Amino acid sequence: MSAHAAVARSAVEGSEVVLELAGVTRTYPGPPPVRVLHEVDLAVRRAELLAIVGPSGSGKSTLLQLMGTLDRPSSGTIRIGGLDASRLSDGALSGLRARRIGFVFQQFFLIDGQTALDNVADGLLYTGTAPGERRARARMVLERVGLGHRLDHTPPRMSGGERQRVAIARAVVGRPDIVLADEPTGNLDSASGREVLGLLRQLNAEDGTTIAVITHDRDLAASLPRQVHLLDGRIEHDSAWSA
Ligand code: ADP
Ligand code: MG
Repeated sequence: MSAHAAVARSAVEGSEVVLELAGVTRTYPGPPPVRVLHEVDLAVRRAELLAIVGPSGSGKSTLLQLMGTLDRPSSGTIRIGGLDASRLSDGALSGLRARRIGFVFQQFFLIDGQTALDNVADGLLYTGTAPGERRARARMVLERVGLGHRLDHTPPRMSGGERQRVAIARAVVGRPDIVLADEPTGNLDSASGREVLGLLRQLNAEDGTTIAVITHDRDLAASLPRQVHLLDGRIEHDSAWSA
């Protein structure tokens, strides 16, 4: 099914498409140039929880960077909430990212010298929220992810699982349209990994947060409602197409 057909079907189902890729190709300039994504069509609907799964080198992180407008495609279009990202300036894109997209990375990317509270409050930096309000909202979200007792801890004094929960809190504090998580359990032991995945499920179920989890772990992917299989830069199978 083409992305357009998927969009048409989602309209029938009544759920809004929050992110759409149509014919997206990414070639890294060489020499020699390397085409890493080929004509990718993908539509993500509001409140979906999906896995993008594929082996190392299949193009998952490249796809995530494009979905998150951190990178621009060589060809094809990316729409976030109906807006064509290619028509926006870099400044407008960073505004769109700040308001609509939350990121979670394998390496957490927290600021070591800042408390958990300030790390999460930073998730609202470019949204025009006043500092006091940023901290109040950060505190609420940290309590929700079970870290109300760690507000004043810095990342070096926290476990990997706790750090990733801080990173998730930072990603959702601005109530984004979509959260993109690149191998969020990749640096965690299996118990912490299950906890982090459980938290993502909870945020999806309770708030309807749209979440795409990128992973090389087929079992993890199989545990989520939708799987998009990536192989050599192409979508090899999307469970939404065969449902
Ligand atoms: P994955 O996340 O699935 O492991 P990546 O998207 O990181 O895959 O990489 C896909 C392919 O693109 C790999 O072969 C990688 O070496 C290549 N690649 C990634 N980033 C760059 C870049 N900036 N320049 C050139 N090649 C790259
Ligand atoms: Mg990767």
